Amino acid sequence: MAKIVRLTPQIANMIAAGEVVERPGSVAKELIENAIDAGADRITVEMKNGGVSYLRVTDNGCGIEPEDVRTAFLRHATSKIRSATDLDAIMTLGFRGEALAAVAAVARVDMITRTRFAASGVQITLEGGNEIDFTDTGCPVGTTIVVRDLFFNVPARMKFLKKDATEGAYVEAALVHAAISRPDLSFCLIKDGREVLNTPGDGSLTSAIYAVYGRDLAEGMISTVGSFHDITVEGCISPPSVTRASRNLQCFFVNGRFVRAKVLTAALDEAYRNRLMHGRMAVCFLNIRVSPEMVDVNVHPTKMEIKFSREKDVFRAVYNTVLSALEADDHISGKTPPEQPVRYEPMAAPSSAQPVSEPARTPVQTSQEMYLQSAVKVASERIHYRSEPAKPMALGDLLKDLGSLYEKAPIVDAQDDPLAVSVSSAAEPADIKEEKSQNTLQNIPPVRVLGELFSTYIIAQEQNGVWLIDKHAAHERMIFNELVKRKDKQDGQLLLYPVTVVLSRPEKQACIDNLPTFADAGFLVEDIGGQSLLVRQIPLYLAEEDVPAVLSEMAGKLASGGESGNMVYEELLKSVSCKAAIKAGRSSDGFELQQLAEKVLAMPDVRQCPHGRPVAVFVSRRELEKRFKRIV
Ligand code: ADP
Ligand code: MG
Repeated sequence: MAKIVRLTPQIANMIAAGEVVERPGSVAKELIENAIDAGADRITVEMKNGGVSYLRVTDNGCGIEPEDVRTAFLRHATSKIRSATDLDAIMTLGFRGEALAAVAAVARVDMITRTRFAASGVQITLEGGNEIDFTDTGCPVGTTIVVRDLFFNVPARMKFLKKDATEGAYVEAALVHAAISRPDLSFCLIKDGREVLNTPGDGSLTSAIYAVYGRDLAEGMISTVGSFHDITVEGCISPPSVTRASRNLQCFFVNGRFVRAKVLTAALDEAYRNRLMHGRMAVCFLNIRVSPEMVDVNVHPTKMEIKFSREKDVFRAVYNTVLSALEADDHISGKTPPEQPVRYEPMAAPSSAQPVSEPARTPVQTSQEMYLQSAVKVASERIHYRSEPAKPMALGDLLKDLGSLYEKAPIVDAQDDPLAVSVSSAAEPADIKEEKSQNTLQNIPPVRVLGELFSTYIIAQEQNGVWLIDKHAAHERMIFNELVKRKDKQDGQLLLYPVTVVLSRPEKQACIDNLPTFADAGFLVEDIGGQSLLVRQIPLYLAEEDVPAVLSEMAGKLASGGESGNMVYEELLKSVSCKAAIKAGRSSDGFELQQLAEKVLAMPDVRQCPHGRPVAVFVSRRELEKRFKRIV
């Protein structure tokens, strides 16, 4: 055996670097966190070659005293913890006093720093952890760290680096996550000599999102805040119409740090359930404040994956907050997002001694308060805002006469008469108002159906614009909502002549395994041997001729696996709703269209079909006038 010797600090640091410093992106993350911890409000990151050959982080924070500069590069040197009682915070927030030592061990590092009280600053140069130079220098207050040639002395690690573009993307992600979690700080990114990102640092989350992801995304977001017990959730989420194909824009922060955790995405998915098209993902930027002990400390502090000790409560907090924001948004017809930006207080690391949040508030109330404010604003500007919440409505009502109000509304099939739209749209808004005031049913929106396009889209005019409503999607959603609302079994109708449905063997078996769920959905199904099932009873809204289609569709889904319990039930209701809804492509009479349009527009929760497709599209009068250059 060779003699046992103690590792030199350099080697120890290089080993530590293996944990902390994986790539330029992780260096950027550590240096940005240091800058934030130093109280900076302006942080600039510059990179060349994806940050591999050059990475600079400049801040206007407190700077480091000349006599502390060398210490900062020692392993386990930190100004952030003094005693073991702070250990929770160390583990949760990654203060381990290791970053600078680790980075310096595997790169060429320059640091220039000055505190407010020092007449001049100092510059230190290290290469592979060895000090090369230490001099006084003139510089502004704050700290600049330049990291050159990362892994120049560790070729093995160098090999693991990806293309510059990929490494650059990681650096950019580190900056973006910091910028979104701290809208009160201004972040700037310079890539190969070009400024690519600059956030204003005005404290508004919307401004930060605008700067990073652009106007369209920022302006569509819905602000939300809520809590469950001592867990608070704050940030913004996308309306169901704004989605992405991946989870890339689902950003969660815990106490201000970017994290990934299954429970958070699960809560988000659950809140958006039935609002998104298959395969589409919501966008969110949410900060979850919890007391540090709730975050699993066994997880590597520089890794983003975390676990919570009270997962169910965290789930509830996120789910409630997101759902109530979505529901409140339904009431504003999914239009203009609340214009009040979410204001952030600096997300200073909550110490374990202090409670993280105010006493628990009801999440629903909190976000509704916010929404009431914005809703009132929107209502005063837009006629299509319905201040009345959707009333539960029996489906049978759909076909009931609503009264005389719209009987006199001219119904013209636009398909037959291309002039219909222009003629009718000349109607004075005043007329509509008058009609409304005579009406006893005050909450019925003053819409006037002008006809339908391609036997599919209802054209409905209201004072400030025109709605195009997908009649099938709208009807489908209304039926689905109605069915979902029923707590018990769905009503069924016994068939005089039971229907036989022939299925493949696995399909049949999958149905038999789910017979109780079928019964809950209103289907009475019997196994009559062979490959056939006998259907004796079907849900009330389903037509007999649609039975084989619904059953074989469900059987196919069940046989291909995945669905269970509640999901099967919901899929059945979706399938029934789809079949029971009036069909696109089959023209409907004017009265039917008028009723459907009124119903749909009066129900703010009918904006997507159960499969997530939009139900109604609004084109404002202003928009039309702009297009026709009547106004600029
Ligand atoms: P930690 O952040 O865990 O304390 P680091 O190795 O990242 O460990 O930094 C060591 C110390 O150097 C910090 O505790 C802090 O006192 C000082 N420091 C590092 N970066 C900066 C900076 N940008 N501005 C001011 N002080 C800094
Ligand atoms: Mg640090």
